Amino acid sequence: MTPAAQKIAPLEEQGNGQIIYGLDIGGTKIEIGVFTDELQLIDSWRTPTPTTSYSEFVSTIINLINEANSRYEKKAIVGIGMPGIIDKNGLVKSANVPCSTGKNIIADLNDILNCSISIGNDCRLFALSESVGGAGEGYKRVYGAIIGTGAAGGFCIDGQLYNGRSGFAGEYGHLPVSAFLIDKYKLPLKTCGCGLIGCYEAYVSGPGLSWIYQHFGAQTTDTFHFVQRLNAGDEIAKATFNCYMDLLGASFASLILSYDPDIIVVGGGISKIDQVIESLPFYVNKHLFTGVECPLIKRAKYGDSSGVRGAAILRKQLSDS
Ligand SMILES: [Zn+2]
Repeated sequence: MTPAAQKIAPLEEQGNGQIIYGLDIGGTKIEIGVFTDELQLIDSWRTPTPTTSYSEFVSTIINLINEANSRYEKKAIVGIGMPGIIDKNGLVKSANVPCSTGKNIIADLNDILNCSISIGNDCRLFALSESVGGAGEGYKRVYGAIIGTGAAGGFCIDGQLYNGRSGFAGEYGHLPVSAFLIDKYKLPLKTCGCGLIGCYEAYVSGPGLSWIYQHFGAQTTDTFHFVQRLNAGDEIAKATFNCYMDLLGASFASLILSYDPDIIVVGGGISKIDQVIESLPFYVNKHLFTGVECPLIKRAKYGDSSGVRGAAILRKQLSDS
């Protein structure tokens, strides 16, 4: 059980402060977490995500908030995290929730709900969650990197997300793979989900690891099988691991040269593989020149709870400022 999932004292014992709802919208489910003003999780539940009908999608969010309002008779503020790009005008572009693309979710929810809402990219909110009370607590510059279905992240300074001019700062997965590594492993150039060719995400995400495993001759794309074979000393698994880690290490070296963080906090499915976490500093240092060293790398503290928690922190910070 993650710390965020631990049940705490009933709300009536938490004082009369404001409560915060954090919503984590994924391609298959929407989770709502109810937090105290001190970011303690009181309650959470989830429901399937409607991905094709926008009106159903909006009513599902409204139903979750209304349900929370009826469970907790307090005035709440709401933060939302979701995959995809939210531009500076609030318009969403999301491959995982196609019905939301081109919509202004905040404006549409505000038309119906009388509460204050903010929205952010889920991977960036993972970084924020780990920076504030998570594995990056106590460090000034925290980079949060997800390695899972995709490869994305965000950068925080003093517990605040660094957004950059357009809100995209931290997208390490869409930096181009080193030409040296493409040549070294004779890798074909893969088209990334973003439309560009040769992005790191196509190689270092979970599907990227599966692809490399097959590229080296495995008969399966199953990453669980890969880890089993790696532990057994299988040659194909070892070659896959070396190539994968070289690519992942190079991608982290690029983000280190860009952001120079004090710590990198890693989450997502691939971060659960012990060998990846343990050997990452070695592979990162291979791609850094003399005088630059890999910073501390730690596994995420909040894991799967970081979506709702990061969304709640984003909203709380706007409210506090
Ligand atoms: Zn890309």
